[in-house]
Amino acid sequence: MTPCDLASPIQYVKGVGPSRASQLGRLNIHSVRDLIYYQPIRYEARPALCSIRDIKLDQWQVVCGKIVSAQLRQTISKNPYKGKRLDIFEAQLTDGSAWLQAVWFNQPYLKNTLKSGMRVLLKGQAKRGLSGPIPQMLNPEFEVLDEDETVSDDASKGAVVPIYGLTEGLTQRRLRAIISTVFNQCDLQITDPIPGHILKAHNLPTLREGIYRVHFPPEGLSVEELNSYSTPYQKRLIFDDLFFMQLGLCALKHRLTAQKGIVLKGNGAIRQRLLNNLPFALTRAQKRVIEEILRDMDSPRPMNRLVQGDVGCGKTIVALLSMLNAVECGYQAALMAPTELLAEQHYHNIKSLLGDMDLPISLVTGSRKDKGALTVTKSEAMLIVGTHALIQEAISFEALGLVVIDEQHRFGVLQRASLRKKGNNPDVLVMTATPIPRTLAMTLYGDLDYSVIDELPPGRTPVHTMLFFENRKHEIYKILEREILKGRQAYIVYPLIEESENSDLRSAIKGAEALPKAFPNLPGLRVGLIHGNMRQEERETVMREFKEGHIHILVATTVIEVGVDVPNASVMVIVHAERFGLAQLHQLRGRVGRGNSESYCLLLCYGFSEEAKRRLMAMVKTTDGFKIAEEDMKIRGYGDFFGTRQSGMPDLRFANLLRDGAMVELARQEALSLLKEDPMLTNYPLLRSMAQEFWGDKIDLFKTA
Ligand code: ADP
Ligand code: MG
Repeated sequence: MTPCDLASPIQYVKGVGPSRASQLGRLNIHSVRDLIYYQPIRYEARPALCSIRDIKLDQWQVVCGKIVSAQLRQTISKNPYKGKRLDIFEAQLTDGSAWLQAVWFNQPYLKNTLKSGMRVLLKGQAKRGLSGPIPQMLNPEFEVLDEDETVSDDASKGAVVPIYGLTEGLTQRRLRAIISTVFNQCDLQITDPIPGHILKAHNLPTLREGIYRVHFPPEGLSVEELNSYSTPYQKRLIFDDLFFMQLGLCALKHRLTAQKGIVLKGNGAIRQRLLNNLPFALTRAQKRVIEEILRDMDSPRPMNRLVQGDVGCGKTIVALLSMLNAVECGYQAALMAPTELLAEQHYHNIKSLLGDMDLPISLVTGSRKDKGALTVTKSEAMLIVGTHALIQEAISFEALGLVVIDEQHRFGVLQRASLRKKGNNPDVLVMTATPIPRTLAMTLYGDLDYSVIDELPPGRTPVHTMLFFENRKHEIYKILEREILKGRQAYIVYPLIEESENSDLRSAIKGAEALPKAFPNLPGLRVGLIHGNMRQEERETVMREFKEGHIHILVATTVIEVGVDVPNASVMVIVHAERFGLAQLHQLRGRVGRGNSESYCLLLCYGFSEEAKRRLMAMVKTTDGFKIAEEDMKIRGYGDFFGTRQSGMPDLRFANLLRDGAMVELARQEALSLLKEDPMLTNYPLLRSMAQEFWGDKIDLFKTA
């Protein structure tokens, strides 16, 4: 056998000419590597091949025989009402032990496919023959065998067979044959990148065996084991994915911690003044997380920490206290929010929390493309609040000590790396409201340390969530009226700003106009409107009026999705709730239930799909952000859920973070301990290059310094 490079084009494999190659190409199989990594979509059990003489009636069986004669007959159906013509294709076959008749109805074209002299595999249930002793199989599944093809391979031994995604012109059998040829007739150069001691410790087979057995499962494995991805062979491939992923993340993390950062250990004076101004005491969880952050900031290594906490747990104050620690040391601190509205709100919120303390603070939003480069000096601002504008090339800071990224679950490894260039390795704190299982966090934020605020401030009552169809809209109005009379406020969120021609969705502008008519009993009702197309000053005015209680109902688009904080608001109405994603719905709901009065989230629907129904039911069933996130991941799949594509995270080929949680844990431990022993993987050059290849060229994992 000549050695076969995995990169060789598939076309040169024996039995694959240009036309097969183009079929395979449609499945994205171009090289030998693509072929051997092509995964079955599931496995099926094949009943064992049975000789025709031993056929049992009324059971699923597979037989193999040669067609001796075949003919197409046409009859008139006996059904008196229809009188339709019926095509019957019959074939007589034998395997030498006995005879069998196969019959197919209304498939006249079979006369071109199944001809006398051919050998076929039939799968079906045999019945007593209508005329004479020869049994009949009605509409059996069939496969035509090649002339010299033996049926003693796995597929006919009663084994489990893989089922692949196919394309026109390609059969399961043919594809299996090509894969078999590649393994049996080529000397595949599969070298195993994973150190032997790791494989041994976890009972994982070699790479070659793993790949091979996924296509040709050994006898004794059940369909259930295979279809649940729990065989050692599948685990091996899953492990590779997760191990490469973790090697990358841990290498990044290691590289960061090896760098020199700024030691930030303030005297606490400014923080104490803020705490004295606060109308509440910090929760235990907030205190604990602040401790963890301060310990990081105090260290000479750059901080790289994720703080996760459900909507409303009080992340803002944690961020602000960390920022003030930097300020106490004479460094600037920046807070980055995902929307302008939220940046504006944080800006005003922080200003009012600081009260009469004389700290310069500035707000930076919008692009600086035409405004030229900007350096923010310390005398201009010690605290800077902004949007993505903060990470633009054109902005720099005199002495940036800390960057906080708020409410960002879409901010990936790549962007975090670019942030560090903004200052002299500033500390970085990422805040997210997306609660995710530990194993997922380990992957998505695997380059970060991790803190959780797992406690809501006292006195919160869970939000009542209810689903309404359009015909019960008046009930929503009733609740709104009742709450407004109690002195509470409400949000009504629409999916669109304006009505548009190519959409029949309700819009915020129309909704706001029509609203007063729905409340004849509330003549003094004041309705506000806020959306993304308004100018900043207008938006700020509306938000301020709402916050101060001058506006009763705020009609909005999803600009208020994250972060907005008006504790007196007790009703959130979401119009066209079926159109919103689950994470979005949960965030929106998080805008109410912030005070200690009963509050309501009213979902108004105009018909929904199965998937939308699952989202809405999840909302009604639970207010637990953790359960919501899990359900969301199940509905959307994890790639979509986290927008991994934009974030620079590589795609997993075999692993599934939800299914393979235990394996994530294991891969992380192994990656950490291997890198501890050999940070640059100098002794494992193949592993190093395969891990880098897995991550692509966007991130240089093993760069020195
Ligand atoms: P999120 O974590 O969603 O960003 P916020 O920081 O906006 O939450 O806080 C939600 C609300 O809870 C705010 O009104 C905030 O002032 C209040 N809050 C924060 N911490 C506490 C606390 N320890 N006790 C009472 N209220 C708190
Ligand atoms: Mg927040």
